[in-house]
Amino acid sequence: MSIDEKIKDTISRMSLKEKVDFCHGTGLFQTAALNMSDGPMGVRREFENDSWKEIGTSADFVSYLPSNMAVAATWSLDLAAIFGDTLGKEARGRGKDIILAPGINIVRSPLGGRNFEYMSEDPYLISKLVVPLIEGIQKNDVAACVKHFVANNHEHNRLNISVEVDEQALREIYLPGFKAAVTEGKTLTIMSAYNRLRGDFCSENSYLLKDILRDEWKFDGIVISDWGAVHNTVKAVENGLDMEMRVETNFNEFYLADSYLNKLESGELPESELNKKVANILRVKHKLNMFSKTRNQGSFNSFENWDSTLKIARESVVLLKNEDNILPIQKGKKKITVIGENADRIHSPGGGSAEIKALFEVSPLLGLNMISGGDTSIDYYPGYRSDDEINLAVEAAKTNECVIIFCGLNHDHDREEFDRTDFNLPSRQDILITRVLEVNKDAIIVNLSGSPVAMPWIDKANTLIQLFYSGMFSGQVVAEVIFGAVNPSGKLPITFPVKISDSPDHALGEFPGDEKVEYKEGIFVGYRYYDKYKVKPLFPFGHGLSYSSFEYKDLSIVDLDIKVTVKNCGKCPGFETIQLYIGNMATDEVRPVKELKAFHKVFLEAGEEKTHKFKLKHGDFSYYSSKLDKWVTTPGEYSLLCGSSSGDIRLERKISL
Ligand code: BGC
Repeated sequence: MSIDEKIKDTISRMSLKEKVDFCHGTGLFQTAALNMSDGPMGVRREFENDSWKEIGTSADFVSYLPSNMAVAATWSLDLAAIFGDTLGKEARGRGKDIILAPGINIVRSPLGGRNFEYMSEDPYLISKLVVPLIEGIQKNDVAACVKHFVANNHEHNRLNISVEVDEQALREIYLPGFKAAVTEGKTLTIMSAYNRLRGDFCSENSYLLKDILRDEWKFDGIVISDWGAVHNTVKAVENGLDMEMRVETNFNEFYLADSYLNKLESGELPESELNKKVANILRVKHKLNMFSKTRNQGSFNSFENWDSTLKIARESVVLLKNEDNILPIQKGKKKITVIGENADRIHSPGGGSAEIKALFEVSPLLGLNMISGGDTSIDYYPGYRSDDEINLAVEAAKTNECVIIFCGLNHDHDREEFDRTDFNLPSRQDILITRVLEVNKDAIIVNLSGSPVAMPWIDKANTLIQLFYSGMFSGQVVAEVIFGAVNPSGKLPITFPVKISDSPDHALGEFPGDEKVEYKEGIFVGYRYYDKYKVKPLFPFGHGLSYSSFEYKDLSIVDLDIKVTVKNCGKCPGFETIQLYIGNMATDEVRPVKELKAFHKVFLEAGEEKTHKFKLKHGDFSYYSSKLDKWVTTPGEYSLLCGSSSGDIRLERKISL
């Protein structure tokens, strides 16, 4: 029997009630058909089935993986695949059928509370990384659940807000990641967002779920609602939702439970539609090998999973500033002064549904102690909780030459349900940093955050390292970078603005809105805005330094084959991410100055050079015409810009199409 025949046969033998029970939660994280868990940084702790009370066992400690933003900062398709594989293994090892990850909403505002769970401001970067990531998860017989479809770009009033976005921005910015996840990554499930899009809740939105997802993208997997995102039985059933989940435990009162059953029994809703939903669910069960004796079993907390986590973390560290090559520092220092609460803080338990009950997490203070060697003494000053503390830290920074400040946010700020209200670093961190830099201009600064933050002291600082919650080895890898055991290679997947009023959502659009939020900036999100409106960012999209330097040369174009040579001119081996942007000069419609269309991370020994070939396609030159309401490619002239970041273009050529 073919799978389709088997599915038909199973459905013919199921009662109406059995079929309806496939379509709603019968537990906080399960239905009659499938068993799931959060989330994007690893598998969440176990709760009781019908209450948010933690089971409290020692059997659910897991590996704490880097955040999606940290994965994106690696700009590595290989590491995205390894990340997916690791997450899949951990989830299957914990007995899950679906892992509620990855989060791929566009980072629209620097203040978005869940930015750390998402990847980037750029739809192309997301589209490329999400495919190997999903494949990695799903090869372990666990389904990915790509979330949150769509436009859940901030948290304020997330359960009700209506996102008003024009079709061009929806098509070019907000949908491509999801499209790639469905059509290329073949995600088996997708989570519909809490918010409304143009007035209709995403979980009941026929344009999103039927026209785009099912008809255009041919999605035949399961649409799962976010937890409590359904508001009406008929609308959800008719408009394409398959499975309703909620944070409440009155499972039979869900819109897709007894209410659905009653409407089926009375004939108000047709059984044929229910059969389609059950078929979608059974198809996924077959694809997960749930009826086979050879289903992957996975395993969690294995050395292999930790090794993968460490590899990803290493490449996720972004070196933003390094004047006079202050970094890396030599080992063998007598004394190191470490300042700032983030040096000694554990982040895994926070953030909302992305929280992790980590088996262990190496803090930066531990990492520095692990790596610096036994004869180095490390003094620690939390630094900013009272002025006394600031004075103590400043005094210590005055007398010791080697000072490292760990500043930034934590999951009180980078978290689900709330957006940040302030772009500045919380507490007195700016005062602390400014005063330390006054007495020690070479103090090394490490910022940890899932989003950009204001850095009023940046001109005085000679160094800056950025971390995006890199998982259980975060403190180790930052120490490895500081001491030069790892040559940093991360690049920013988001732009860091100087001030919040510079960011497009604040300058042109609305943030955070209330009943409604209008994305008036249209397609000018992230670097597309900073380029177009000539606003100088603090650090541009794609920026990230290395302890080596790279020369770009010989950009050549034959048809749509682009070749470029990159040479490592430094003294140590390292990675460089070559970025290729295209600017459209062929149309009179308003377009961004340039858009990322290809990138490649290359490893080069000191002195080595390599030539990389990018193969562009005609589709890479297309855009969504708001005049014609469709994707078009215009013949004419385009610019090809190749460089080390969106703000550091090294080579440029014109190309005629
Ligand atoms: C979040 C989802 C999460 C779900 C289950 C919701 O509040 O938005 O991302 O997967 O809860 O915990």
